[in-house]
Parts: sequence; C-alpha cells; structure tokens
Amino acid sequence: MDKYVDYPTLRERMVRDQILRRGIIDKRVLAAMQEVPRHLFVPENMQKMAYEDCPLLIGDGQTISQPYIVALMTELLCLKGDEKVLEIGTGSGYQAAVLGALAGEVHSVERLEGLANAARRILKKLSITNVHVHLGDGSLGWRADAPYNGILVTAAAHKVPQPVLNQLADEGRLVIPVGGRMSQDLQLWQRKGGDQFIQKNVLPVAFVPLRGELGWSLKEWEDASFW
Ligand code: SAM
Repeated sequence: MDKYVDYPTLRERMVRDQILRRGIIDKRVLAAMQEVPRHLFVPENMQKMAYEDCPLLIGDGQTISQPYIVALMTELLCLKGDEKVLEIGTGSGYQAAVLGALAGEVHSVERLEGLANAARRILKKLSITNVHVHLGDGSLGWRADAPYNGILVTAAAHKVPQPVLNQLADEGRLVIPVGGRMSQDLQLWQRKGGDQFIQKNVLPVAFVPLRGELGWSLKEWEDASFW
C-alpha cells in the first residue's frame, strides 16, 4: 500500500461527488461507504484507482462494481440494522463489507475459490465478524441460512432464479440485474406474502454473468454477444 496516498480524503470525495450527488440519501449507506476502505479490497497495483467512478478488475476475469452501483443496490434494500442478508457473488468482499456495516448478519456466496479465500482474508483482517463467505453455486441461493430479509445478486441473471425468490422472507427485498449480455435491468423485487411479489426496474446496468445451474452457461453467454 502506498502510505502517501490520502485514502480517507479520496473516500470522502467519492461519497460526495459520485454517490450523494447522484441521489443516494440514506445516511447509514453514506456512512458505510465512507467507512469501508475500498482500496484494501482491490489488487495492490490498483489501490490508487479504488475510489474512481468505475468498476475495476479484481482477478479471475471478475470485477468490483462502481461505487455508485454498490451504494444504490445497498440503499434499495432499506436496511435498518438487524436484518439477515444474502449476497450472491462475493467477488472482492467489498459489497459484503458494506452490507456488514448495515445489517445484523450477512451471508455471501462465491463460486470461485480464490476470490472467496481472498475475501475471507481481508474481512478477517478488518475484524468484520458478521459476514460469512460461502463457496458454492449462488444461482441456487444459500438455503442453509434462509430466509433472508434482503438479497443482493451482484452478477447478471437471464431470469430471476426461483430458489432465490423462495429464500426471501416476507416483506424482504431482492435486488438483481436481469437481462442479456450487453445490458441488464437492475430489478427490485419485494415479497408481499406467499407467492406475491411486486417488481420494478430501477436502472440499466452491465454486470459479469451469473454462472451455475440456474445462471448462464459459458456457451449461452458467448452466443448472446449481439443481444
Ligand atoms: N460483489 C462483488 C464485490 O463487491 O467485489 C462484485 C461481484 S462481481 C461483479 C460478480 C461475482 O459473482 C464474481 O466474483 C463471480 O465469480 C460471482 N459469481 C458468478 N456466478 C456465481 C454463482 N453462480 N455463484 C456464486 N458466485 C457467482
């Protein structure tokens, strides 16, 4: 880490210029984005870029989302502090750390072992004890700890996986990018008793694919390049 870079100031500017200015108003979300040291979740040679207004590569062909998208997806969950939350797609562990600052308990599922282990290491180093990283296929959700008051899917699905909907508690909220390869709609779902849900599209986004049993196969994703 470059000790001459003033990361707290970079973080303050990120919150003010990229997040607050774009309309994120939940004070707890803004405080969590100010608190979590995003640069520690990216590879060392990218740390100086960690607070820029873009996603970054984190290895294994995967990305850490743009700060604004992390804040927006988090705000959409309307967390008050005691919820149980599931994240599908741990990646660097950054989004999970932000959720950990705002909810009671976070379960985060990652299918790539190297990323899951790296995320566990940094979460431990930061003494974040309420975030649990699981290695597995998140396209099936994470049944062991269901139901969840909030679920964030941080990879693009072609369709909302039914097990993920099933694992949402009543009044729980699900945020998930759904669509084709070039772009997806960031969708918000809320469970309204039994099999009743309300759903709305929030914003067009572009995520890496959700893989696994109910996600994209490599071939489907490659064939979808002109959608
Ligand atoms: N939330 C992450 C962060 O804060 O760094 C960014 C996630 S990255 C955009 C998407 C992640 O989803 C990748 O790490 C990828 O390996 C993971 N992923 C894709 N399909 C998955 C699946 N079926 N189960 C679990 N993780 C999956």
